[in-house]
Amino acid sequence: MPWRGRFEMTIAKTIAIDLGGTQVRAALCEGPRILVRASKKTDLAGGPTDIVKQFESLIDEVSAGADRGDIAGVGLSSAGPVDTELGIVLGIPTIPGWENIPICTLLSNRVGLPVHLENDAIAAALGEWRHGAGQGLQNMVYLTVSTGIGGGAVVDGRLLHGRKGMAAHVGHMRLAQEGPRCKCGAVACFEAFASGTALAERARAAGEADPAGFLGLTLKNKSIGALQVFEGAREGDPQCRLLVDQEAAYLGQGITSIIHAFSPEQVVLGGGLSHSFDLLEAGIHAVIAADAMAPFKQVRVVPSMLGDNSGLVGAATMALERAGS
Ligand SMILES: [Zn+2]
Repeated sequence: MPWRGRFEMTIAKTIAIDLGGTQVRAALCEGPRILVRASKKTDLAGGPTDIVKQFESLIDEVSAGADRGDIAGVGLSSAGPVDTELGIVLGIPTIPGWENIPICTLLSNRVGLPVHLENDAIAAALGEWRHGAGQGLQNMVYLTVSTGIGGGAVVDGRLLHGRKGMAAHVGHMRLAQEGPRCKCGAVACFEAFASGTALAERARAAGEADPAGFLGLTLKNKSIGALQVFEGAREGDPQCRLLVDQEAAYLGQGITSIIHAFSPEQVVLGGGLSHSFDLLEAGIHAVIAADAMAPFKQVRVVPSMLGDNSGLVGAATMALERAGS
């Protein structure tokens, strides 16, 4: 409330931060527009204290040209699980030492601004809903597919949070009785089958089985990631094409369950694998057409519009909306 009168006349600035296992990114935003951005490699060894210092230094960097008094708050998008009601990071599998960290209070005390926390996929869903591929929809699901799989849902015109703000962890729905072990400890999660990491592992196995093939030769020169599989498929390599088709099938299977659970008008696909959406699109839609119940078959999957910025734009949007509420 104290912020409302101050910011309703102009588009307030916010700072968005995205904490991931590889990078910490920050941006100074005006509404959904990113004015300045900066990033650092996540200081995994330093633990929470050093990462909070990284936040501070990035905030100083992006807000160097701005008056702190014009900044409505900080929106923090974090890998999770996070308890957004209490502003606590509960644990991040990819970042050691982040267990039960009251990040909102910690950071707010250091930078003198209100800090609002959101799960990274829910923040990205908000970004795409308000300013990207989901604009104007009442029901949508955002799915990010990269090293893992995360989700965020808009249902009945509202961003879904659930208990502790942990709704839509769709990467950990189980797709089969048996399957690869997931980072969460369970087996056969959607993420364990369909993440970029899972695709890269299948590609590595295929390369080892056929050393003279495209993947085998790639493996000799460098490590294989999902990107190399898509490159190989574009060059017409049959093994890569098969892996891409299989990946599209896994994505289609998970997305079909998501469509049944949330009844979205559209599913927005983000994350690293969405850069190769053109190669996955037909396979995903073929599974939906075959497996979804009749009234769900026409639901479309579309690529994210904001790309790598969905989370930052969502975090900025969240900070602005909470400052004004
Ligand atoms: Zn899992």
